[in-house]
Amino acid sequence: MAIEIRAVTVLGTGVLGSQIAFQTAYHGYRVQAYDIDDKALEAARGRFTTLAATYRAEVMGATDELTERTRAGIGLTTDLAAAVENADLVIEAVPEVLEIKRQTYETLGELAPERTIFATNSSTLLPSDIKDFTGRPDRFLALHFANQVWKFNTAEVMGTAQTDPQVFRAVVDFADSIGMVPIEVRKEKSGYVLNSLLVPFLNAGIELAAGDYADPEAVDTTWRIATGAPMGPFQILDVVGLTTPYNILMSDEQTRGLAAWLKENYIDKGKLGVATGEGFYKYS
Ligand code: NAD
Repeated sequence: MAIEIRAVTVLGTGVLGSQIAFQTAYHGYRVQAYDIDDKALEAARGRFTTLAATYRAEVMGATDELTERTRAGIGLTTDLAAAVENADLVIEAVPEVLEIKRQTYETLGELAPERTIFATNSSTLLPSDIKDFTGRPDRFLALHFANQVWKFNTAEVMGTAQTDPQVFRAVVDFADSIGMVPIEVRKEKSGYVLNSLLVPFLNAGIELAAGDYADPEAVDTTWRIATGAPMGPFQILDVVGLTTPYNILMSDEQTRGLAAWLKENYIDKGKLGVATGEGFYKYS
């Protein structure tokens, strides 16, 4: 029998969790959102209000009525048992800390109905790092969204060797049904498809500038003109914000020199990218 997904619970209502909850509710699903305390829920309410305004401004057909119904329809709770008691799918977007993820899944595995599928939105952990804590490795996989889900709408679906193919298929179909373009990753790969391409590309750009071979503008100009791409690596870095790339460069001994260059020339000067008005470029 085909797996039906109607009720979705999102764990963690931070940057990504709030977007996933909103996008899912916007597409007509019953959505419950869970976070650890009232302060976090209050922040979530603020995020949903901002998202409603953003959808009205940026998503075609997002009327006042639809975005208001979406915002008001998302259930918010600090009671995990209540949050998951009817869930067909739980999407987890709690902090990117292995211990927090494992503890979350241990509790979740005991509270959720047997049929419930669990999906992690983790950017850097493999589902294999977590699967043994879920109590149901056959119904567990990664569903990885990109920041600003309403416009950067890829959803990378990646299971472990133990993930039931029917579960994988159901999650691919679910992603499609909420307006995502599902990307099927056939076996586990750190970085999925997107970051496997993007991280080495951005690092190569930084290496050219840090090594004083060419300045950031020249690197971007080359890439844009020679390939027809709309943005070069430094324009992308400005949009992403420099902190995450810095942390990634710091995590590998071989790229620490590039991290130091980023820090000294940009981060320490408050040039963190578009969000701060200046990064490699100035923004008004
Ligand atoms: P965030 O810090 O903005 O939000 C995390 C939320 O989880 C907070 O609301 C926090 O209160 C809550 N939380 C803390 N402990 C919890 C617990 N034990 N149980 C439930 N909730 C808890 O983080 P984020 O940027 O939304 O990232 C969440 C996940 O999404 C991470 O795995 C991250 O790798 C992934 N992700 C992030 C991005 C991004 O651009 N930010 C993109 C793709 C994937």
